[in-house]
Parts: sequence; C-alpha cells; structure tokens
Amino acid sequence: MNVCVIGTGYVGLVTGTCLAFLGRSVTCVDIDEAKISQLREGQAPFYEPRLSALLTGVIERGLLSFSNNLEQSVQGAEIVFIAVGTPPQASGKPDLSAVEAVARSIGKALNSDHHRVIVNKSTVPIGSGNWVEMLIKEGIRANQSNGSSQPLSFSVASNPEFLREGTAVHDTLYPDRIVIGASDAHAVERLRALYDPIIEQTFTPPPSSPRPAGFTAVPVVTTDLASAEMIKYAANAFLATKISFANEIANICERVGADIREVVRGFGLDSRIGPRFLNAGVGWGGSCFGKDLSALIDVAQEYGYEPHLLRSTVAVNRRQRQVVVKKLQETLKILKGRTIGLLGLAFKPETDDLRDAPALEIAKQLIEMGAHVKAYDPVANDASRKLVGNLKIDYCPDALTLSEGCHAIVVITEWDEFQNLNAQEIGTLMNTKVIIDGRNVMDRETFEAAGFRYCGVGR
Ligand code: NAD
Repeated sequence: MNVCVIGTGYVGLVTGTCLAFLGRSVTCVDIDEAKISQLREGQAPFYEPRLSALLTGVIERGLLSFSNNLEQSVQGAEIVFIAVGTPPQASGKPDLSAVEAVARSIGKALNSDHHRVIVNKSTVPIGSGNWVEMLIKEGIRANQSNGSSQPLSFSVASNPEFLREGTAVHDTLYPDRIVIGASDAHAVERLRALYDPIIEQTFTPPPSSPRPAGFTAVPVVTTDLASAEMIKYAANAFLATKISFANEIANICERVGADIREVVRGFGLDSRIGPRFLNAGVGWGGSCFGKDLSALIDVAQEYGYEPHLLRSTVAVNRRQRQVVVKKLQETLKILKGRTIGLLGLAFKPETDDLRDAPALEIAKQLIEMGAHVKAYDPVANDASRKLVGNLKIDYCPDALTLSEGCHAIVVITEWDEFQNLNAQEIGTLMNTKVIIDGRNVMDRETFEAAGFRYCGVGR
C-alpha cells in the first residue's frame, strides 16, 4: 500500500516512519527543503527518542523516501495524510493556511489512476473535513480549467493523532485507540487495512520499542467526520482540565496546610478518577493543549455557546505560570540583580519542543524584573537559542555549571537526571541555597538536609 504523508513534523515524520516500519511504502513530503535534505541523510530534524533508529532502518530498506514534490508523491499514493502544522493565531483560531494550501495542491495533483483517501491527521476545527473536501474539489476544477477533464474519485477522512512527544514512536505502535471519521465505507475499510498490523498487533516490535506486556488488539472508533474531529479536541481539553484542576486544588492545599501529593494519591486511587495528569506544578504547555483549547472555545462561540469550564482551564493555567515567580519573590524578596537557574526549558521531558513552554514565559518575566537567568535543558538549549535568541538567557552545558552563583534554582521540567542531582554538591556552588520545585519531583528531605530552603507547589 503506497502512502504519502504531507508535513514532516512530530506527527507526520513519526507516522510515516512507523507505517514504513510496518511494510508500507511511504513518501514524506515537506515544503521545507532543508528538512527534506536532512531527512534524506537519515537525520531527524527534532529530538524524539527511538525515532532515529527506526528512521535509518526503513530508509535502508527502501520503504521510506522524502520529497518536496507534492504532486508526484500524491499521484503515487493510495492514502494521503495531511499532517501539517495548525499553529495558534492571536485570535485563538488555529492558522489553517498550510492545510488549505495542501488541500488545494492535492486537488490539482489528483489524476484518474485510482481512488484516493485523503486523511486529515492535523488537528483541525470541527467541519474541516468538509472544508478540505471543498478545497480539493476547487483544486480539481482549477486543474481541469487547464485542460484535464477526467472524472476523479477521492474521499476525505479524519484520523486524529494522539501521540505524545517524547514517547511518539511507542504511542504510534501501541495506541490506546485509533479514531477514523469518514462518511464512506471505502475510506474506513482502506484505513483499517492500513493500520491492520497495529490494530491486530501482528508486527514484530522493533528492539527499541518493545510491545508492553499484555498489549493485544487496539480498539478502533469509526465515526462521522465531525465526531472524529471533536474527539481530538475533547481529549486534549479534558487532559488540560485535569491538570488545571490539580493545580487549583494545590493552591488551596498550600493555604490550608495540606500536601497536594498526598491529596492526589488519595483521590487519584478512585478508579473513576485515575492518578494520571494530576501533577501540580507550573502548568501545562506544549504545541497542543493551549492551541486546541483556544480552537474549541472559538468553535463554541461561533455557535453561540459560552464554554465557561474551558475558559477556566486556560485561566488557571495562565495564573499557575506565575506561581514560581511569586515563590521566588517571597523567598528572595529582591529579584533585581539575583541569579536564577532554570532546570529545564521544554514543556516536558524527552523533547526539545518549546512551543508554549512555561519556562520561556518565566524566563522572560524574570529578565524583565532585572534577574540574571541561567538555564540548562538536556536537549532543548539549542532549540531555545534559535527560538528566543533575543532573550538574555545564559545557557549552561549541565546542572553543575548552572548552579554556580545562583541565588535560587527553579525546576521547570521533570527530567529524570534532575531528580538524581547531588544536593550537597550543587549547594556548595550556589550563592544561596534555595530550590523552587515547580514539578514536585525533588526529594525535599535530601535538599533540606543539605541546608536548602525547599518550596514545592501545593505542599
Ligand atoms: P510541526 O510544526 O512539527 O510540523 C509541521 C510540518 O508541516 C513542518 O515540517 C512544515 O514545514 C510542514 N508544512 C507546512 N506547510 C506545508 C505545506 N504547505 N506543504 C508541506 N509541508 C508543509 O507540527 P506537528 O507538531 O507535527 O503537528 C502537526 C499537526 O498534528 C498539528 O495540527 C498538531 O496540532 C497535530 N498534533 C500534534 C501533536 C504533537 O505532539 N506535536 C500531537 C497530536 C496532534
């Protein structure tokens, strides 16, 4: 089965690589020529654990190729995934210009060789499936006005993506579910066939991503286009709400003398609630939650509905990013001229993605307040230099260098390596021994025993 994936970001590249690993013949397309050249060399353009090994393997086996020729790649494929970015705009609406450009180009590229299934994998507002179909038809008409007039056959499906950066390969090979939204049975049947090795778990796992014990078949949710699109937004809105809820309770815990970690352990054990996505801290970030919540709020408003709960989820998160700055003020009093070390820049461990990362907002605020900000992230220093080169952050090669001269260290990303830091050693390098644990992951007793003033969130 020949597949074309348009967009080689976190979603497109991981999807294309995993499908190729399952034996599909895949062409990944991008407009970014530098990215395509890098990928042809077998190098992933971003940090994603376990991707590189798989990528080089499928390129060597001739199952995955890269191109910036969309027309040719679409013509050679039976299934075409749209996996381009849909970044947020100031209005809250996602920027759909890349989806629009790609849909029109697909329309212009279609020929009458065979039926094609065009699949929206990008996260797009409800109704986008119908919109993409219209754009493809416009592209076809534009092409036919140039002389071609054969009838063309295609269907549009929605197949939202749920992978998490940092565990994207694992999530693609062993997903909780596969959602297929389509109005015609053929599209559903072809997508089921494409994903069959994953659905039935018939493939031999790659050594770098072994199958979890007891993992068997994957549930497939087949539904209409609008419901599939809504499932993606609902999932992200719910997860973000869970975190904001934990942060709200954490803030109350702090005031009444309770410990959020004990509280979450107690209520998370309720099988109706579950313990995941309830870690209090500096709040959620990343490329999806904020953008998808804004888009869902925007859709609701378009239909005259006021989504109070979703707005509160966003508001609680916005306020949560201020928590560590407030704690620094309470502890150090004066921030002007002080050196603050940020441990972690990316919005979560195991990724160098800095989109909507709390660390950057906190760094900006501290710099504006007159502090000297140092930062160390195991993989995201370079990405940060590129993204916010104008921010005066003093990047450090490791946690010990970061500690030198600091008046306080703030843990922003819960990398494992931070949890293994030697409190005694870093304490001797610091100016004053203060640690603000923005993720509640450091061992309080160890730091207090080393003479630190320790401040967690909600404790
Ligand atoms: P990304 O920004 O990492 O990658 C998008 C890619 O699309 C880029 O390489 C860009 O060059 C390419 N592109 C843009 N316009 C193009 C065009 N006209 N033709 C060809 N290529 C073009 O984005 P991403 O993080 O992979 O996200 C893609 C979509 O998937 C978004 O809608 C996102 O919301 C959704 N999603 C992302 C994640 C995630 O964790 N990153 C998870 C689930 C869903």
